[in-house]
Amino acid sequence: ISVTDLVDESYKRIQAVDDKVGAFLTLNEENARAYAKELDEALDNRSEFGLLFGMPIGIKDNIVTKDLRTTCASKMLENFDPIYDATVMQHLKEAEAVTIGKLNMDEFAMGSSSENSAFKTVKNPWDLDRVPGGSSGGSAAAVAAGEVPFSLGSDTGGSIRQPASYCGVVGLKPTYGRVSRFGLVAFASSFDHIGPITRHVEDNAYILQAISGLDEMDSTSANVEVPDFLSALTGDVKGLKIAVPKEYLGEGVGEEAKQSVLDALKVLEGLGATWEEVSLPHSKYALATYYLLSSSEASANLSRFDGIRYGYRTDNAENLIELYKQTRAEGFGDEVKRRIMLGTFALSSGYYDAYYKKAQKVRTLIKKDFDDVLEKYDVIIGPTAPTPAFKIGENISDPLTMYANDILTIPVNLAGVPAISIPCGFANGLPLGLQIIGKHFDESTVYRVAHAYE
Ligand code: GLN
Repeated sequence: ISVTDLVDESYKRIQAVDDKVGAFLTLNEENARAYAKELDEALDNRSEFGLLFGMPIGIKDNIVTKDLRTTCASKMLENFDPIYDATVMQHLKEAEAVTIGKLNMDEFAMGSSSENSAFKTVKNPWDLDRVPGGSSGGSAAAVAAGEVPFSLGSDTGGSIRQPASYCGVVGLKPTYGRVSRFGLVAFASSFDHIGPITRHVEDNAYILQAISGLDEMDSTSANVEVPDFLSALTGDVKGLKIAVPKEYLGEGVGEEAKQSVLDALKVLEGLGATWEEVSLPHSKYALATYYLLSSSEASANLSRFDGIRYGYRTDNAENLIELYKQTRAEGFGDEVKRRIMLGTFALSSGYYDAYYKKAQKVRTLIKKDFDDVLEKYDVIIGPTAPTPAFKIGENISDPLTMYANDILTIPVNLAGVPAISIPCGFANGLPLGLQIIGKHFDESTVYRVAHAYE
């Protein structure tokens, strides 16, 4: 099989199903085909190959791609063609992966259903009346629908793991600092991560291997060794200690999700692991803490979209101030405006101590809960989301219910530790996800457990 065949398969599948699924915003067809041909033609004269040689991959549309439109699913960046590549894109090029196109999402990665895209709603390939999750809904749906074997997503509060769970695929949020954020359009910089979405754990480890590492362009990227993730996939979990937070099997979590986790624990016990119930007592504050802090960071990060420097500019302004105001009023969708207002309020001088500073303190307590548990156990296990995929339209007019979807993923972003979601059964024909959370920079153990279970 040639690279051209692989790339061909991808575009054929996209032609056949993407009208229904709505996963792609922009295709890179001409360039991808030319690159495939180039790789095929040089094949005989080479002895070394990139780690992802010829592999088709889809990229979430908040990762900047040189000369390839990058919209963040926002009217604000509708016509934005970046002049540089994100660091992860440079890594993918070195690994010789083939970029198939850019994937739909919630506008600026704010949402849990991909209904906040300014262009079209992504559908869940398992049931087209349901959401694929979000905000990386296009990245998860494209893999689930067989349009691409792999994709990159981003995860600020669950946006890789929750859609992976809803779409029955594998999604990993690495440790904060493992993968460079340079070229990821910032939503909440201290929570944002890029990570892989794939069908299996092994492919996931390959992609992470290719995109990890220190980057001088991202001052928060970490100077730690990148281990060989693939060597962790031994199938051996004997003696491994698992913690199961009682908050993760408590109120608000659906019976099916709970049961699927208990079943998975039985499988892991059968393989020689042990588990105990623990508590993450501050988890109950995670949602409030996250939405306050992430919106604060968003309000600062999104101030750059002013109609002068990037993207959309209104035609209806008489002076500069009006130009800023009108551009932002017309360019941003409702959810983005909601976050900017919330964040601006929390950061304003009269409220800073009461909200922002307080939330930072709570964040430290939440992080400490995880550190304490992970000192004694190898991994933490729970469901990825409280329920399977919900219906399109079901939660869109109720932001608080929508936010509650992230109750099991958000604490992990506050702590910055790595976590994966892998398929673990079904409820009424819809996939459920198992979340495996690890110690800082120990993606290897997360993969080991995921692979043994898979
Ligand atoms: N659903 C969460 C939010 O809307 C998480 C988003 C994300 O991880 N990008 O903020």
